[in-house]
Amino acid sequence: MVEATEIVKIYGSFKALDRVSFDVFDGEKVVIIGPSGSGKSTLLRSINRLEVIDRGRILVDGIDINDQKTDITKIREEVGMVFQSFNLFPHKTVLENLTLAQVVVRKRSRQEAEERAMALLERVGLAEKAKAYPGKLSGGQQQRVAIARSLAMDPKMLLFDEPTSALDPEMIGEVLDVMKGVAREGMTMAVVTHEMGFAREVADRVIFMDAGRIVEEGTPEHFFTAPTHDRAKLFLSQIL
Ligand code: ADP
Ligand code: MG
Repeated sequence: MVEATEIVKIYGSFKALDRVSFDVFDGEKVVIIGPSGSGKSTLLRSINRLEVIDRGRILVDGIDINDQKTDITKIREEVGMVFQSFNLFPHKTVLENLTLAQVVVRKRSRQEAEERAMALLERVGLAEKAKAYPGKLSGGQQQRVAIARSLAMDPKMLLFDEPTSALDPEMIGEVLDVMKGVAREGMTMAVVTHEMGFAREVADRVIFMDAGRIVEEGTPEHFFTAPTHDRAKLFLSQIL
C-alpha cells in the first residue's frame, strides 16, 4: 500500500526525515513510536502529501504521489488521516461532518451519504449525537466522529497521528476500542501513538524513530522484549 524509499524532508537546514524507507503492506497495522521531534508526524504527513518531501520517492497503491501528473485529491480519498486535534468542522453538525466529503468528493447522493454516516455513527456509538455540533461533544466523542468521518470515505488506508494524545485519560479507551474494531475489519493502518498496550495488541510491526531515522523495527514481541538499539531501550524504559 505504501512504498517509501530513502525519503528526505528538510526544514531550513534541519533534516526532519533522513533517508527513511518505509513500507506498509495491504491490511498491515504498523505502529510508529519514538521521542518528540523524531519525525513521526512528518513521515505520516508525507504519505498523503501534507508535506512535500525533498528527496526520495513515495508510492501509494503503486502511484507516485509526488509526480506532477498525480491528482493528490484522489490519493487523499484513498488515504484517510486522523489527527490529535480531531479537526472537525465546528459549524457543521456531526452528521454534516460525515456527509460533506461523501457528497462533494465521492459524489454520493445526500440520502446515500446520510445512510452511510448513520451506520458509521452507530458503529462508533454516537448515533444519538448526529444533530449535535462538535463543540458539545467530549474529546473522546469528537475523535470517534473524526474516525467515522474518515471511514465514510471508504479509504484503502488510515493514518493516525497520536489520536489519543489530546484526550483526558478516561476517554482514551473508547477511542482505542474504535481503532481496534477498525483494525479487526482488516483496514491498513499506520498509527503514531504512545499507547504501548495498543501497539502490543494490534501492531503487526512496530517502528521506532529517532532523529529523523528509523533505527529499529520488528514485531511487538521483539520490540518490547528485546530491543537492540540504545535509544529504543531508553525510550521504552521511560514510557513503560
Ligand atoms: P514528531 O511527530 O516525531 O514529534 P515531527 O515530525 O513533528 O516530530 O517533527 C520533526 C522535527 O521537524 C522537529 O524537530 C520539528 O521541530 C521539525 N519540524 C516539523 N515541522 C516543521 C515545520 N513546519 N517547520 C520547521 N520545522 C519543523
Ligand atoms: Mg508528532
